[in-house]
Amino acid sequence: MQENIIPHDFKITKKKRSELKEHNSFLIWFTGLSGSGKSTIANALEQELYNQKIHTYTLDGDNVRKGLNNDLAFTPEDRTENIRRIAETANLFVDAGVVVLAAFVSPYKKDRELIKKTVKDVNFIEIFIDTPIEECEKRDVKGLYAKARKGLIKDFTGVNAPYEAPDNATITIDTTKVSVSESVEIIMKAIKPKLEL
Ligand code: ADP
Repeated sequence: MQENIIPHDFKITKKKRSELKEHNSFLIWFTGLSGSGKSTIANALEQELYNQKIHTYTLDGDNVRKGLNNDLAFTPEDRTENIRRIAETANLFVDAGVVVLAAFVSPYKKDRELIKKTVKDVNFIEIFIDTPIEECEKRDVKGLYAKARKGLIKDFTGVNAPYEAPDNATITIDTTKVSVSESVEIIMKAIKPKLEL
């Protein structure tokens, strides 16, 4: 099948779309334990980008797990397929000229490597929200740690499923030491040069 798929030569390219929007596009990927602060920081960062007239879109568990990936569970295979589809989706958005923010636990190194490969190295910014598990569990934003400890959720990252921390994240943030607004500042500083055409 694949060999019969011949790409059409579209005249409006990523470069042209970016010129229209007056900024570059890439993927900002947040990884970390549940409750570490990924969505909170991504949300605050997106507001700042919006204020600076940057075109953005956020992919997270709510809009992906309930739609595109509603056939997937949390087994290692399904987690990998979940990330593969998100990476392909993010790649389309990046091609469309949009800065994509993605907040997913994404516990496996090899899956995050696949994302990098899909969107290409230069378009991938990895942000590790490195909040200690004790703090995530104390926050227990969605009550999921309590459920997992009671054995009501199997495959819960940090409790009964592994989390493989990145070795070389672009930015690492421990939210017990850095506030949300400071986090936004740190990330903005790092991505500013990348946004410029
Ligand atoms: P995740 O998306 O990683 O599952 P959330 O962003 O949903 O995590 O939840 C993180 C929780 O931690 C929120 O209730 C947030 O208000 C709180 N929090 C406290 N301090 C910080 C901080 N410095 N950065 C991000 N979140 C923080």
